[in-house]
Amino acid sequence: MAYSNIPRKESLRSIADVKHIPFWLDDPIRPLSGPELTKNISTDLLIIGAGFTGLWTALLAKEEDPSREIVILEAGEVATGATGRNGGFMDASITHGLHNGLARWPKEFPILLAMGLANLDQIESTIQRLGIECDYLRTGDVSMASEPYQVEDLRAEMEISARYHIKSEFYDRDRVQQIVKSPFFIAGLNHPNYSALVNPAYLAWGLRKACFDLGVQIYEHSPVTKLVEENNQVIASTSHGYVRASQVALATNAFPPLLKRLAYYVVPVYDYVLATEPLTPAQRESIGWLGREGISDVSRQFHYTRTTADGRIVWGGYDAVYYWNNGFGPHLENDSVSFARLAEHFFQAFPQLEGVHFTHAWGGAIDTCSRFSPFWGTAHHGKTAYAMGYTGLGVGASRFGALVMLDLLDRRKTERTVLEMVRTKPLPFPPEPLRFIGINLSRWSMDQADRNQGRENLWLRLMDWLGLGFDS
Ligand SMILES: Cc1cc2nc3c(=O)[nH]c(=O)nc-3n(C[C@H](O)[C@H](O)[C@H](O)COP(=O)(O)OP(=O)(O)OC[C@H]3O[C@@H](n4cnc5c(N)ncnc54)[C@H](O)[C@@H]3O)c2cc1C
Repeated sequence: MAYSNIPRKESLRSIADVKHIPFWLDDPIRPLSGPELTKNISTDLLIIGAGFTGLWTALLAKEEDPSREIVILEAGEVATGATGRNGGFMDASITHGLHNGLARWPKEFPILLAMGLANLDQIESTIQRLGIECDYLRTGDVSMASEPYQVEDLRAEMEISARYHIKSEFYDRDRVQQIVKSPFFIAGLNHPNYSALVNPAYLAWGLRKACFDLGVQIYEHSPVTKLVEENNQVIASTSHGYVRASQVALATNAFPPLLKRLAYYVVPVYDYVLATEPLTPAQRESIGWLGREGISDVSRQFHYTRTTADGRIVWGGYDAVYYWNNGFGPHLENDSVSFARLAEHFFQAFPQLEGVHFTHAWGGAIDTCSRFSPFWGTAHHGKTAYAMGYTGLGVGASRFGALVMLDLLDRRKTERTVLEMVRTKPLPFPPEPLRFIGINLSRWSMDQADRNQGRENLWLRLMDWLGLGFDS
């Protein structure tokens, strides 16, 4: 069953009054903005970017060595990047899923799997230890099939999972309809222990507070405009001051990079999301979605959906839009065509909810790289390190990204730094116009595959052969 892309009047009406702010950030407990950097200071470790990667880097570094001076410079406010815009699906995978990890690092896959699971366990124990209230639920993410060929794919995934001792639960149509009633879902697969749901802003604000409590200095509205090496240190300049640091961790994700070379490895791809008003008990009853598990469909252009603590449904995905020449900025965060398409798909998935309104609509940039999973590197003779390229699966993996950055900065050989995944980089993207043409041809081909029983055209087969094929 394929979604129709033509929005009906009812769908357009449902998004007529949306606020263009991520639902997670539109919250009365959002902290007041911190100070700007207006002086020149020195520090042991400077972190640029206060999303999950930057916050975990600060927390882990400070917990390891409380005497280390740490400063964070953030262009906007904590969590205003992808960290406050995502679906809040926190996956144990650090390789962007089973298939991607196995295809790229077959030999070290068991260790990557174990490290990913340990990472999720440690996030969970940190949340508990610090008492961060962030609606964290380890309920899993059910992959839903809507076509018979996808059911076969789920069965194949279940067999691979068994080989690696990943607990799986296969749901037939009846069981799936007990989880949520939708004409689209005919089977499902869950790895209950491998995925959690979280309110991402609450988690980030909790990490922010933990960093403050340990003495980390956070400057907001302080974009770094220049990063240079000078006298065995690195200097990060903002418009009203600079920070002189012995070490720098770059945690800027899909934002225009401070190291030019990174623009070849990461492209910003925009993803859009809607949140409904809180459902009434009768509306909730009509779809039978009483649990708090996450749900994604398994098409190549996939939707993800979940409920919130106050009873809304968050519904995002499908469109993944690359704008010419790494286009980036707030003007791309709202796309009325994508919002209308998402609303239309929502009512096709849940026809019982016709008449429900959306209250929030937003978008954000995904730091896409050609291997769809994070990569690392250093600059300035090892004094600067970076972690990025999570490609839409960084809510959990960002903590692992932070650990590796700290290993690299401290020049430690660890079980992480010896990994092939850590030592290698993705293939760079070609320059424009090839970049634009290639990415959009892939997107079009994925749409065709979804409408053609998953059959790949020549372009997708070529991409797979080159190791550039995207498997959601
Ligand atoms: C719409 C959407 C949905 C997603 N859904 C999921 C999901 O459900 N599950 C999942 O695992 N992942 C998801 N992701 C991806 C996930 O959100 C990211 O991988 C993760 O938040 C990355 O965190 P980060 O800290 O690396 O980046 P960010 O949160 O983007 O933080 C980077 C920070 O750096 C700052 N910055 C940039 N340049 C500068 C500069 N020059 N000076 C100072 N500061 C600077 C920015 O302002 C920003 O705050 C989604 C992403 C989007 C956009």
